[in-house]
Amino acid sequence: DAHKFSGMVEDCCCDYETVDHLNNEVLHPFLQELVKTPFFRYFKVKLWCDCPFWPDDGMCRLRDCSVCECPENEFPESFKKPHRLPFDDLVCQEGKPEAAVDRTVDTKAFRGWTVIDNPWTNDDETDNAEMTYVNLQLNPERYTGYTGPSARRIWDAVYSENCPKYPSGESCQEERILYKLISGLHSSISIHIAADYLLDEAKNLWGPNLTLMHDRVLKYPDRVRNLYFTFPLCPASCDENYLEQAEYDTGNPNKDLTTQSLMRQLLYNPKLQAACPLPFDEAKLWKGQSGPELKQKIQNQFRNISALMDCIGCEKCRLWGKLQVLGLGTALKILFSVDGKEAVSHTLQLQRNEVIALLNLLNRLSESVRFIHETGSSVDTNIEGE
Ligand code: FAD
Repeated sequence: DAHKFSGMVEDCCCDYETVDHLNNEVLHPFLQELVKTPFFRYFKVKLWCDCPFWPDDGMCRLRDCSVCECPENEFPESFKKPHRLPFDDLVCQEGKPEAAVDRTVDTKAFRGWTVIDNPWTNDDETDNAEMTYVNLQLNPERYTGYTGPSARRIWDAVYSENCPKYPSGESCQEERILYKLISGLHSSISIHIAADYLLDEAKNLWGPNLTLMHDRVLKYPDRVRNLYFTFPLCPASCDENYLEQAEYDTGNPNKDLTTQSLMRQLLYNPKLQAACPLPFDEAKLWKGQSGPELKQKIQNQFRNISALMDCIGCEKCRLWGKLQVLGLGTALKILFSVDGKEAVSHTLQLQRNEVIALLNLLNRLSESVRFIHETGSSVDTNIEGE
């Protein structure tokens, strides 16, 4: 056993071996291809640091922190508008004209996608003002040098105010789920930092830093467990009823066919559905007298976490923080929108950016699980308690 975790993933639907197997055989290879397709590699995001909780502390002046936006000539054809807009109408980011984005793009290029706000996130997804397109392939999530009190303050606020870890027995299942999802995401972010680390600044040499991975994740079994809990949530929320019918149109028929074919293979993979159906029984959640208030409370907490992403003083970390929180929010929106899956498929509407976030989050989690699976046994795992 590669990483010495075995048996059922706590509160989940399948065991560690199954998660690893599904990832290696089904998810990882498909997702790696999928996220490279034009449809999935351009993410629309508001990158301004617009923290609602405290003033910008200007922490991040690091080269590896900044995001490289898309030059206009790089967009898929259908992203573009037929007539050039006057300069004033272009949305530029930090004074860089090449980051200009046509705000009307969405309505034209993504017919068939609804524009609707996600109740789990803070940003109004229907508001295109100040949004920019980022090519995710050019901006990998990795070590940026963002650390110290600024980064610490975000994680502290996430955990202490919005998803506290209660001693066992003192929290309800819904609160435990929120904590585990965030902790699992945190593990995944730490793994990506360690997996793609700046080993030698002078030589600009990047590579895995296994000591860091051990110190931040592997030596805490809970952090590994929470990643294995979070990961199956996303495939479980991939419902073919609305994901297959969606228009994966970027104006490049060949590439779009590839996207559609990969999506179909993913959505209709019998192994995936059978082996890891749902990370928890969503029909049993939010029940009882206080169910509606509890749902409201947890939704508010998650929205606060989403708002905290605007306080991240490092542009690239903010990009991936926002994408992954939107991805998780989308999974929650799908799983918790109505009671029972049947009803969900008829009423639920997803927007393009949510699907992009969901699948890119899934790919990140999949990479993390694979990294743990592959390196877990080669690291001297000196386990400590939380
Ligand atoms: P941190 O990772 O900051 O953890 C703070 C505390 O949280 C720990 O001391 C521990 O008590 C607790 N903790 C740690 N892991 C877990 C877990 N899995 N579950 C529960 N509790 C835990 N830096 C980059 O270099 N690249 C990035 O792309 C990047 N993205 C980020 C995205 C977000 C949303 C945030 C908030 C920060 C990001 N950072 C990124 C910064 C990075 O996450 C760390 O904060 C930074 O590297 C300092 O790490 P640390 O060792 O102090 O511990």
